[in-house]
Amino acid sequence: MIKGLLGLRAQLFILEGKFASPVHQDFIWDQNGLAVAQCKFCKDDLPRPECTCGIFASTNQEVAKIYTSTGPSAIVLIEACGKRQRYTDGWRSEQGYIVAIVNVPFKAWYGREFGEHEQATWAACQYWHKPLITLATAQDLIALNWEQHQ
Ligand SMILES: [Zn+2]
Repeated sequence: MIKGLLGLRAQLFILEGKFASPVHQDFIWDQNGLAVAQCKFCKDDLPRPECTCGIFASTNQEVAKIYTSTGPSAIVLIEACGKRQRYTDGWRSEQGYIVAIVNVPFKAWYGREFGEHEQATWAACQYWHKPLITLATAQDLIALNWEQHQ
């Protein structure tokens, strides 16, 4: 049962066979799908409006795609848990929980199939044991979810 806001984000596939944040590459995402943000400024009141901490996600696939440029990456559908800041096309939250892995149209996005991003996507399915859904399904789920959170 999904209660929080949904969004898309990129996860970087790293050498150890794990997944990290593309922006903070020393931040390893746990295999249980849940990540908890930490901030020395916000401490227990994370994320505060004036800070930039938290787990980030966007409803805009183009924004999520930008973050795949750091290396082999998977796009995931993620739920905001705990406290959050909402924006017009995304959010940042205290916690993020991975709901599904998104099977993006690799050729349209990256110019070819069977590349590093597709490999990272299959690895993500194994790593988190979450269902693989199409980008269209992910966008439908996000649209419905955001309507419910008006
Ligand atoms: Zn903070």
